Amino acid sequence: ERMMEIRKLNCNAMTMKVTYYKKPIFIHQGFMQWLWDVDGSRYLDMFAGVATVSLGHCYPKVTKAAQEQLQRLWHTSAIYVHPQIQEYAEKLASHLPDPLKVVYLTNSGSEANDLALLMARLHTGNFDAITLRGSYHGGSPLTMGLTSNTVYKYPVASSSGCFNTMCPDVFRGPWGGSHCRDSPVQTIRECSCSPGQCQANKHYMEQLMEVLNTSVSKRIAGFFAEPIQGLGGTVQYPKNFLKEVYKLVRERGGLCVSDEVQTGFGRTGSHFWGFQAHGVVPDIVTMAKGIANGFPMGAVVTSEEIARPFASGVHFNTFGGNPLACSIASAVLDENCAVVGTHLLMELAKLRDKYEIVGDVRGKGLHIGVEMVKDKVSREPLPVDAMLEIMEDTKDMGVLIGRGGIYGQTFRIQPPMCITKDDADFFLAVFDQALHNYME
Ligand code: PMP
Repeated sequence: ERMMEIRKLNCNAMTMKVTYYKKPIFIHQGFMQWLWDVDGSRYLDMFAGVATVSLGHCYPKVTKAAQEQLQRLWHTSAIYVHPQIQEYAEKLASHLPDPLKVVYLTNSGSEANDLALLMARLHTGNFDAITLRGSYHGGSPLTMGLTSNTVYKYPVASSSGCFNTMCPDVFRGPWGGSHCRDSPVQTIRECSCSPGQCQANKHYMEQLMEVLNTSVSKRIAGFFAEPIQGLGGTVQYPKNFLKEVYKLVRERGGLCVSDEVQTGFGRTGSHFWGFQAHGVVPDIVTMAKGIANGFPMGAVVTSEEIARPFASGVHFNTFGGNPLACSIASAVLDENCAVVGTHLLMELAKLRDKYEIVGDVRGKGLHIGVEMVKDKVSREPLPVDAMLEIMEDTKDMGVLIGRGGIYGQTFRIQPPMCITKDDADFFLAVFDQALHNYME
């Protein structure tokens, strides 16, 4: 009866657009890497609520921290200081290099990027932002402007005929791109160009220089980039690309913002933050998603110098940094997770060699993308209908995965980090079978 009630409720309300599955799944329970629907079917969650439930659903130590805090104190607003916020800010800052020691807490990644843009504007006195094609930085009116991926925008004509943004002074640098320009099948991850000779890097830098050499260069407030693009389709940049862009932006007086909403908190395996793999230290770091294992929270961390204008103003956020969020996020930071990402990447690469429609396998740690193509010669994206058919099939076999990319052509594998090698093998077998079924 309860199940019928839930179904009716969801069907009548129709508030959510179900994008992935023909038959929506009504999830009602989760534990670690597993989800159960109202009919009792179990799914291996290989997407973790969009790379968010990083430790696992209802992770016991985090649940315990939440329960204890629920009985102690929920909310004070930013007017009062509470021990949880101080403890958490210190703990979070200890994970970041100098001079990134000032922490602001928000409720989402969009809010964090909104705040980062405001900080960059106040600090530099400039207005413009540069982002990369394929980027996703949020869905608020301001961050929708930073976001390049048009899938997430609304087609309201502006005077320039562009997609609607409330932040018109955003200039797009080149798309990180998924393939070396001079060899369309070679991935950047495997790029064998010698340092300084990478054709992809050269091409992107030339494009970016075009943007930087326009009038925007005199007015750059901030350059925003994800260390690996998430919704853009797990896109990695050529070697040294971010390092060189940071230098160019800084030479022109702009600040560099690393959007770690997806890549932070160990998601990429080898480093705690995505920027570390690029050999850069950003001026501002934004984060959310994995920060509190599914509890709504975000953060911005910067230097004292950049935060200075906020000392004289009133930056107010009613829920940001509330005791409950801080206690949960604190428990998240105390955990360490074993990562089976390398195994997954290696085994997925075998599927790339086996199937004509698997164009590329890329990513790091448990931030993995599988780009699907019509064939390896044309490299045209596999149509969305076909993508959805494969996803439907994996779902019917008990595995949930994600999707992204400019054309929606990349499967995204970003499971809770508690998945075991056996889970990974189960997923690989299911994915292999779904690809086989599609090809038949
Ligand atoms: N930045 C990145 C890289 C993201 O992936 C997202 C969310 N998908 C955001 C920002 C926005 O975060 P939120 O949805 O919490 O506002």
